[in-house]
Amino acid sequence: MAKKLSKALTTIEQYKSQSPHYAELLTILEEILILREEHRRKLPGVIFFIDDRLVGKKLESGFPLVDLSQDDFPIEYAQAYFLDLLKIAEKDSPGETLELREKIEMGEIQFRDLLLAHFFSEDEGEMKGDELGKEEAAFDLIELFIEECMRPAFELVAEKYGSIIEKSRWSEGFCPICGKEPKIGEIKNQEGKRYLFCTQCGIEWPYKRIKCPFCGNEEQQTLAYFTVEDDERYRVDVCNECRRYIKIVDFRSTNEEADLDVEDIATLHLDILANEEGYD
Ligand SMILES: [Zn+2]
Ligand SMILES: [Zn+2]
Repeated sequence: MAKKLSKALTTIEQYKSQSPHYAELLTILEEILILREEHRRKLPGVIFFIDDRLVGKKLESGFPLVDLSQDDFPIEYAQAYFLDLLKIAEKDSPGETLELREKIEMGEIQFRDLLLAHFFSEDEGEMKGDELGKEEAAFDLIELFIEECMRPAFELVAEKYGSIIEKSRWSEGFCPICGKEPKIGEIKNQEGKRYLFCTQCGIEWPYKRIKCPFCGNEEQQTLAYFTVEDDERYRVDVCNECRRYIKIVDFRSTNEEADLDVEDIATLHLDILANEEGYD
């Protein structure tokens, strides 16, 4: 893990000098990655209730291992990490973030409610806008932190059950651990297999190359991709059936190993383009 972290930090430094317009976001990611490692070490182990006897069956039937709606996991680890993450935002918008911190610490906002609302509300941004009265820019960071504060706990699940998941040949378009849909993936190996990545758990799993992860469409005529400035290392796979997209990284030509957390941030221009083209 420490090796992965130091490699990610090196890549971030490199990207910051290559694309100064991403420097601010990449600095935030840098701070997140350092804190993530710290909070990961504080966890006592897997904090979710996962019945080992049912793991194989669940995966076989296409059910993710963790069901947050059961609401049966200790909240304090995520809350402590979230409050630490808030310090990153405090530098830019001290007033708003301090207010949120206070409300959580005073119990005016139940952190569990905030967390579950993020995972289960249809329109994720809406609740925060109404309830906390913050500016749009600040929300995105808060949203990111809410997702991030559960990442160490999900990573431990990935660590413990990774090999079982691999053997299970999970073939769904959503994450085998948390059920979340992927935003980014990569093409790897000599055979050029496509893998999808979950930013919530930090896990990836193989998925058919000619198939939409979101609607399961396999018709070649309605599946397409686009690249930007002929940089073949990055592309966006789109489905004209459901109008969704996923960013795909292909580093086979450079023999580098992609860190998809870093790539997800460094490819935000692809998200913007995809949105402009009418893909969600
Ligand atoms: Zn996941
Ligand atoms: Zn589709």
